[in-house]
Amino acid sequence: MIENIKNLTEVLDLVDNPVVITNSDNRIEFVNDAFTDLTGFTNDDMLGQNPNVLSSGQHDQQFYQDLWTTLDQDGRWQGRIINRKKDGEIFARQLVISAIGGEQSEGARYVAVYPLRGEELEGVEQKGLASLTNLPSRDFFFDRLSQALARARRDKLSTVLLVLNIDRFKQVNTLLGYEAGDVILSQVAERITGCVRDTDTVARLGGDEFAVILVGMRDELTIRKIVDKVQKALAIPFTYDGTEVRLSISIGVSAFPTSAFSEELTKELSNVEESLLSHADSALEEAKKQGQGSVEYHCKEVSDLVTNRVKIESDLYKALENDELMLNYQPIIDLLTENVVGAEALLRWQHIDRGWIPPAEFIPIAEDTDLILSIGDWTIRKALMDLKVWQDIGLPPLRVSVNLSPSQCVKGDCAKSVQEIVEEHKALANTLRLEITEGLMMENTQMVHEKLEGIKKLGVSMAIDDFGTGYSSLSYLTRMPVDTIKIDKAFIDNMENNSADAVLVDAITSMAHKLNFKVVAEGAETASQVSFLSQVGCDFVQGYFYSKPLPSDEFVEFCRRQNGDDKIRCEQISYHI
Ligand code: C2E
Ligand code: CA
Ligand code: CA
Repeated sequence: MIENIKNLTEVLDLVDNPVVITNSDNRIEFVNDAFTDLTGFTNDDMLGQNPNVLSSGQHDQQFYQDLWTTLDQDGRWQGRIINRKKDGEIFARQLVISAIGGEQSEGARYVAVYPLRGEELEGVEQKGLASLTNLPSRDFFFDRLSQALARARRDKLSTVLLVLNIDRFKQVNTLLGYEAGDVILSQVAERITGCVRDTDTVARLGGDEFAVILVGMRDELTIRKIVDKVQKALAIPFTYDGTEVRLSISIGVSAFPTSAFSEELTKELSNVEESLLSHADSALEEAKKQGQGSVEYHCKEVSDLVTNRVKIESDLYKALENDELMLNYQPIIDLLTENVVGAEALLRWQHIDRGWIPPAEFIPIAEDTDLILSIGDWTIRKALMDLKVWQDIGLPPLRVSVNLSPSQCVKGDCAKSVQEIVEEHKALANTLRLEITEGLMMENTQMVHEKLEGIKKLGVSMAIDDFGTGYSSLSYLTRMPVDTIKIDKAFIDNMENNSADAVLVDAITSMAHKLNFKVVAEGAETASQVSFLSQVGCDFVQGYFYSKPLPSDEFVEFCRRQNGDDKIRCEQISYHI
């Protein structure tokens, strides 16, 4: 047999196709001169090696598994493979592997032949798309699009489709060859994937055309940011074989539903996938007409999203003037006495046409504009006014917590505005607490720190909101003007099913106490959560178990019920939260 191989190898050295022969243990027995010309690896380098020394890392395990299954079943596999040369350079080539010499027996061998360019098979191109770029193919893309659209309808958020086409990609193929083209395409795919979230989908529609499905989009600004990111990522030059290649990409964008709240369109989901794609395609065509690197938004759909955002923005301006904003108060309960000791003020917007709009929807928009500054001031002022009313009608001295958006500290001068507001209600300064986020703490620029210190000097206290979701440590917080931490609802939710969260809540509480912080647990919904929090010595609880956020008059009623009318009259409740 070896004799035969020897004769065969002499012949193979004469042919132009690169060839690799492996034995039944998948160890290389021979590579021919054409293979050495292609990869730089000589016969001596490769003898006894597993062919995976050529692996480029561009294919996943599934790819190789499929290859072996086909080879075992059919005795032959062919497809596009991306491998690495001796100098590390990646190359993509068509490859045909055939099993010869019987079934896994002693003499079985695999002969891998790289066909010359002209012999590469038509149609394989299409089939090999996914393996070239490691991206889903067209069919899979349509599946994902249908899922995304169903979700958009359920969550009343938009799904956005980007269709991207590399400008003048033919030139890359013509000037540098198809191998270069393939390698660059796989890098393009990687860069696009790096610009979007894991929940989004990137697919290769064919040739030099890609698609991206962005799910859960709220507004047009976010879309523009992502589009911008993709364009910037692709503007960084690619290199192939020492040659620098600069690319630009044109993008067409369509969105569904046309407005995140349009009911009409969502009813006709049947053909939306196709029309979304054809709208993005025609936007892409428009973009191409405008020259390289252009982006075109399918006017009706995306402009509706813009309109939606612009409308919320302009309505929000009016909301302040028209008294559409109000505050609800969620009671904060002392776990020892079960008395109400304070409340968190939470913004509500009753829109004339749309009814209640949750803060999660309009606060990010207010934060993108300077509106958050006036809304923030309004909130503190209104909370103190309500607190004054509660005092006047005989409620005990409660403490009111107000959320301070990071923008109020970064863009605005929160210390100055809090000072002005507190001066209007001097007696109430030490009944006000501001809730700040870990993110703001971590910014810790001198300027932010000074502003927070300024607020503390006014007698106003501060709490860290959503503790545990960011990266700040308790010891770091001791250097900050903060006296309370609010453990995020996510930990409370999972305390019972996830013992790690239970241990964390316990540990955070005892460590916080040692460092002189008070602890509020947020979002407790069940009696067993409350009893666990009580056992670990948590000081206060705020959650639906006791009460949802309530309008001011209902909050007063709740306090009277919870604390007991008599208690309120007789007991002097100290400011201990
Ligand atoms: P947050 O500051 O973490 O407020 C607590 C949120 O958790 C509130 O939602 C509250 O209703 C909810 N919550 C409390 N207990 C429970 C519970 O047991 N179960 C469940 N499922 N939820 C509970 P809300 O009012 O929708 O506020 C959402 C977020 O909006 C707030 O989160 C805060 O970040 C922001 N926000 C609200 N009002 C203001 C404001 O006046 N200014 C600023 N800057 N942000 C605000
Ligand atoms: Ca809060
Ligand atoms: Ca919170």
